[in-house]
Amino acid sequence: MAYDQIEGSAAGLAARLDAELREAHPLTVLRAAHERFGARLALVSSFGAESAVLLHLASQVSPGIPILFLDTGMLFGQTLDYRRTLAARLGLSDVRDLRPAFADLAIQDPKADLWRTSVDDCCHIRKVLPLDRALAGFDGWITGRKRFHGGDRLSLPVVEVADGKVKFNPLANWTKVELDAYATEHDLPAHPLVAQGYASIGCWPCTQPSDDGRAGRWAGQEKTECGIHVARAPGVAPNVGGDI
Ligand code: SF4
Repeated sequence: MAYDQIEGSAAGLAARLDAELREAHPLTVLRAAHERFGARLALVSSFGAESAVLLHLASQVSPGIPILFLDTGMLFGQTLDYRRTLAARLGLSDVRDLRPAFADLAIQDPKADLWRTSVDDCCHIRKVLPLDRALAGFDGWITGRKRFHGGDRLSLPVVEVADGKVKFNPLANWTKVELDAYATEHDLPAHPLVAQGYASIGCWPCTQPSDDGRAGRWAGQEKTECGIHVARAPGVAPNVGGDI
């Protein structure tokens, strides 16, 4: 990787960028990410309840940035509609739909009901593995996580390292009030399910209406994260099993 030769390890680069950007406006973070990684940078979006703000900010810096969208096969129809209308409205020219591998579904979830018995295994084949495969072509990526989501996200850095890649969280510092104000100022369309009481929106089997942040996700279970943001042990490479 070019930055290894120039600036040391990805971890070292992430630490330096975090020190530089931890108080910066999200646009400044996005510009720094774009300048540093160019075509080796992607943005991961769920096109969920809060996604419009980050996508609008990114469209000002780099409308052609690859947007990685995990189409798990279990999303609400309203999310698929929103993905199309929002991408068109913001002029996002490279939205990539990431789908589970056919072989993984055939072997592990032929009846599409794995979520009933193991949400971790279901998320692994429908989210973690497809994203690992897609990120193989990038050295940096952008997420929409914020500290106000709570849990492990309370201490979220603006820039971190994950599996040898630099990961930017430009909205880490923003509050829900700031997000809503930005969406109103720029007249951004809301996900249609927000009006039906969904504050956070994922797959239909694992999402319930709730006005309490991410409380409606995997409600009643121990799970709070799908796995794409869970750190692996040092030296453990992403498992990209299955076919593309
Ligand atoms: Fe499966 Fe639920 Fe995870 Fe979606 S959120 S991949 S349905 S376990």
